[in-house]
Amino acid sequence: MFGVRDDGTCRCHLGPECKSTGKHPHSGLVHHGHSEATRDLDVVQKWIRHEPHMNFGLVANQDFWVLDIDLGHDGEESIRKLEAQYGKLPPTVTGNTGGGGRHLLFEAPKDRKVRNTVNVFGDGFSGIDTRAGGLGYIVVPPSKHKSGRSYAWADGLAPDQIKMAQAPEWLLERVVQKPRERRNDAPIPVNITEHDKKRAEGMLEKWAVKRVEEAPGARGTQRSVSPRPTAVSMGWLGVGRSRVRSRSSRGRVRGALSASSASPRRPRAASTSAPPTARHAPS
Ligand SMILES: [Zn+2]
Repeated sequence: MFGVRDDGTCRCHLGPECKSTGKHPHSGLVHHGHSEATRDLDVVQKWIRHEPHMNFGLVANQDFWVLDIDLGHDGEESIRKLEAQYGKLPPTVTGNTGGGGRHLLFEAPKDRKVRNTVNVFGDGFSGIDTRAGGLGYIVVPPSKHKSGRSYAWADGLAPDQIKMAQAPEWLLERVVQKPRERRNDAPIPVNITEHDKKRAEGMLEKWAVKRVEEAPGARGTQRSVSPRPTAVSMGWLGVGRSRVRSRSSRGRVRGALSASSASPRRPRAASTSAPPTARHAPS
């Protein structure tokens, strides 16, 4: 990380204008930010030789996660309220930031993933963030804070003095990914109303009738009716067969639609892609 000058400004080129003084990766040492973090002590020593005033960041990797309590956003007050309700947090490795905040390091749960998120407890419990999953990092001792004070491990709670605790269940419940968040290919949640279904049915019906009527040799032959793409893309709506106005077209449209709704491709389309009609749905 970029260090902090004696006057409390960041050592990056923005100096006093920097909004993240002493807290952001050193672009001269790690070009790709915290994704270039290393456990190789030789590399770290090389960095220190190159930049003796650097600060140190610790990426919350797969082994542990961090509850980041920010004094400035009433994080300590929020923790007091939560502990009063659910019970005290167990002693664990704890870093004090130079600004009065705390970093509590917990062992990563084996069976679930902790989210990397801001304001994890929502309204009424501000100032509590999580750093986890290689996506977030914290500044650690002996880094210097813009206040002039140094980051330091809490008394008796340095990594060489205490083991990281497992977070209590009430806390884990709040910070872990829910099953749906874990899947990148989960269907986009959409509220489909009866009105939406009727509209979709109407669109499909109009389109199918038009195709049948425009098809070469539409009168009297069986060829050129292929409503599959639309039927497939709408399959997720449960629209398969619709009423058809034109008496002469009805039979063939119905046949084609039921054939396509039996297509093995339909379930796949339904689970992986959002149909055009979902565009205006709330996200
Ligand atoms: Zn800076």
